[in-house]
Amino acid sequence: MTGPVMEFLGEELREMGGAGTREGNWRSGRDANGVLWLVMDCEGSGTNVISRKVLEELNAHLAAAERDLPKALVIRSAKDGGFAAGADISEFKDVADDPETLLREGHAVFDRLAALKCPTICVVHGACLGGGFELALACDYRIGLCGASFSFPEVMLGLHPGLGGTFRSLNLIDPIEAMTLMLTGKTAHTKKAKSLGLLDAVIEERHVASAVAAAVAGKLKRPEPGLKARAMNYATARGYAVRQMRAQTEKKAPKEHYPAPHAMIDLWEKHGQDRKAMQKAEIKSFGSLLQTQTSQNLQRAFFLRQRLRGNAKGEDEIAHVHVIGAGAMGAEIAAMSAIRGKRVTLGDTSPEALARAMKLAYEICGSKHLGSLERRDALDRLMPDSKGYGIGAADLVIEAGPERMEIKQSIYADLAKRLKKGAILASNTSSLSVDALAGHAPVAANFAGLHFFNPVSKIDLVEVIQGAKTSKKTAARLAAFCGAIKKLPVHVADYPGFLVNRALVPYMMEAMALMDEGVSKEVIDTAALRFGMPMGPVTLADQVGLDIGLHVAVSLSENLEKPMAPISDRLRAKVAASETGKKAGKGFYDWSQGTPHPDSDEGAPDDLTDRLILPMLNACAELLRKDVVKDPDDIDAAMIFATGWAPFRGGPMHYARRRGVPEIVEQLKRLEKAHGERFAPDEGWDRLK
Ligand code: NAD
Repeated sequence: MTGPVMEFLGEELREMGGAGTREGNWRSGRDANGVLWLVMDCEGSGTNVISRKVLEELNAHLAAAERDLPKALVIRSAKDGGFAAGADISEFKDVADDPETLLREGHAVFDRLAALKCPTICVVHGACLGGGFELALACDYRIGLCGASFSFPEVMLGLHPGLGGTFRSLNLIDPIEAMTLMLTGKTAHTKKAKSLGLLDAVIEERHVASAVAAAVAGKLKRPEPGLKARAMNYATARGYAVRQMRAQTEKKAPKEHYPAPHAMIDLWEKHGQDRKAMQKAEIKSFGSLLQTQTSQNLQRAFFLRQRLRGNAKGEDEIAHVHVIGAGAMGAEIAAMSAIRGKRVTLGDTSPEALARAMKLAYEICGSKHLGSLERRDALDRLMPDSKGYGIGAADLVIEAGPERMEIKQSIYADLAKRLKKGAILASNTSSLSVDALAGHAPVAANFAGLHFFNPVSKIDLVEVIQGAKTSKKTAARLAAFCGAIKKLPVHVADYPGFLVNRALVPYMMEAMALMDEGVSKEVIDTAALRFGMPMGPVTLADQVGLDIGLHVAVSLSENLEKPMAPISDRLRAKVAASETGKKAGKGFYDWSQGTPHPDSDEGAPDDLTDRLILPMLNACAELLRKDVVKDPDDIDAAMIFATGWAPFRGGPMHYARRRGVPEIVEQLKRLEKAHGERFAPDEGWDRLK
């Protein structure tokens, strides 16, 4: 019981004459004004989730409130971190056979709350997600503390809101805005939430009591819905909006792979005018979505994220990070570390690079929705340090210098006398051997690879690469550091391409081999997009930078014991002509008009998709055989969180299992016959059975 929330609820509630008690997951008490406070405080967890138990207990509190009606009911959270993280996803499995019964029970509780014959007020701080948001919507008023945010992340789990969020949000705010929240899972931060009408007031913690009093006195005025919002009650206007939504949604989330947003649009189209019918339909639709492969695989992705978070447990013992190299990677690594609370010094031989890095850090603070004070604090923690004064104080030095052995070697030589005892040195190398680098590191046991992905501020995965001499403690501290800066660490052994690049490069090289055979880049990319990749391999190569891709591919092909598609002359020619992709404005695609959106399957070879995807899966089998990772789930997690690998398929290894390993091995043999040795099935496939 720490932090401002509990101070208010613990001490002030008592001072106000209320008797706060705790039962199960709720604290409750009436204050001197007769207001009933229900404070969600889920047992044994730092975060509230709307579990079956939480709802049952809330139901009991509501029954008691009906018997002895309070002046008003206030619901809030005791957790410093936020209001609630949504429904308890681990319960979804238990109800898979009969989800509708559980849903109806949940609806009954929120309906009871909505029908309570006194003002009901939800006070929200921090994130209010999914089921938590739906609870807030069942109240008459929502008061937000600065930093409160709302979102419906159900769509990321192949679902839509299922506890009344559909009709309640559509009835409360502009339906187009409500639909956008439900279809995209986007967050409405405090200001936006207020302007949408989700929040009736935005206040500081110290004003909670007076804001509650204002709500009770009916002094919180909500703006009337605008003309546009009211027009949506008419089927014609809604029909027009629905058509547009369907077309846009199909582009971003095709119905075949992602049925949930389309089901949401259907709900609104059919029942937008009839709240009761929509409630019934919401329950039915949620129940059937829960049983789709898509939802089950997206839930799997959710648990894979938890799995990686589990790697990050423990203390990193890292207060100060020194980053060497303020280029594309170092600048963002430094910014993200400072934003997440680390003291950071950032060195570079180029003052211009340091200046650019500081400007970028400012921009990243904006993209992470930091308030002005948080931004100021984050930037205060980040210091440009061209002379490397921070090295001696750093607990962790991250080297993100150019990808050349001799440069890294000379950087390490300089560090030898300056590093603090016990400090970790980690390299962000993407293609050099960690063991080879460790030979030049001051203390090999305190050295490892720490492979961030570009752009660091957006991609959550980090490979923690343990060399032969890296100590377990070093690897564990680095993983904990990733957790501290809200990244997802996966442990991998030192291996050419480590995990992600080992799997990804053969896919990109195969795409180029296909281009050499005359298949158009648009047709190749479309096949990958239709499989479910966020981007086709040719677009991806352009985005990564063809120079970087070429460098990684050369290094990989030199170090692998097995062949992949030969490195294309076109790729070399593009790099020689400085047409290096997105950053140059031109690569395989012309980027001057923005990101390309290829869409063509004209003349696509029958085996196109397998030619792209199976080399990647084959490389994953090799990673298992070589013990680069401990578990196929690590591969799935890494590929989803580093590359966006078709999450609705549950990851490459899960996809292989579902399709059938013998079927995949046979298809690889067929491809080997048709296109060459590079498709020969790896001996590691039996690891997946
Ligand atoms: P970059 O060229 O953008 O930045 C390197 C920076 O290091 C430059 O600002 C340069 O001035 C500076 N530098 C050069 N010599 C230095 C020295 N002796 N001391 C301090 N600074 C020095 O390179 P990048 O793309 O940021 O890559 C950095 C590392 O990250 C490389 O090892 C690369 O393989 C790896 N990496 C890159 C990517 C990517 O997509 N760019 C992805 C993952 C990993």
